[in-house]
Amino acid sequence: MDALQSQAMAKAGQARRNAEKTRLEAALLRLEAGAFGYCDECGAEIAEKRLAFDPGVTRCIGCASG
Ligand SMILES: [Zn+2]
Repeated sequence: MDALQSQAMAKAGQARRNAEKTRLEAALLRLEAGAFGYCDECGAEIAEKRLAFDPGVTRCIGCASG
């Protein structure tokens, strides 16, 4: 693997981490606002299992898959 390629991969990894951080920060803000665990679209409670798997989710399974 050449230097340019590994540089590009490092950049992509960093972008992914930043996006993840932003998602989790948003989750914390929802937690503070008392909106954590509720669907952004329909307001239904998001399944606990779903939140445990990914605390950054903002939509219930119905809205996410619909
Ligand atoms: Zn929903």
